[in-house]
Amino acid sequence: MVSTLFPEYVRIPEKIEVKPIELEASKTALIIVDMQNAFVHERGRLFVPESRKTIEPIRKLLERARSKNVTVVYTQDWHQKDDPEFNIWGEHAVAGTWEAEVIDELKPLDKDVLIKKLRYDGFYGTYLDDVLRMKKIEYTIITGTVANICVLHTAGSAAIRGYRVIVPVDCISALSDFDYFSTLRQISFLYKGILTTHEKITFL
Ligand code: ZN
Repeated sequence: MVSTLFPEYVRIPEKIEVKPIELEASKTALIIVDMQNAFVHERGRLFVPESRKTIEPIRKLLERARSKNVTVVYTQDWHQKDDPEFNIWGEHAVAGTWEAEVIDELKPLDKDVLIKKLRYDGFYGTYLDDVLRMKKIEYTIITGTVANICVLHTAGSAAIRGYRVIVPVDCISALSDFDYFSTLRQISFLYKGILTTHEKITFL
């Protein structure tokens, strides 16, 4: 008999609320995690269907961020052919391929910061922390996919480095509700992140 580890009564133990927030534009970075063809295009090998719903909110937030000169950072999963991560997920987002490109709807501009990463965490083995420190960033708005994987690892890594983490809940996506809501719980409880929506963010 197969026993299940998660009993049916498991619930997220707190009310999760979204709040409006005002952020100083010059001290804020908008980080768009892995909105690449591999995850967001239906032909991507690790397609996350819910990610499609986040394109428009991210695009609107991005537009407002750009108009206020907020630093814009994209992370891209960028794997070598024999990456050990493929033992878990299968081959995806191989460096230089169509899958590794950011989706057309959210195309980066030349002045944006592009971070190519090997692991879930956008800071691990990359110059993301250097870039943010040079620009004197204090607030990181973290969007993208997959919520409980690269978004959560990057959010945790930002918080550990002393950045305030802000997550618009309509700008992240996961493969299941459990993954999505447990991510929100971890961000608010563990990393003292601020949960909001794309419309509730004001850049000063
Ligand atoms: Zn990957």
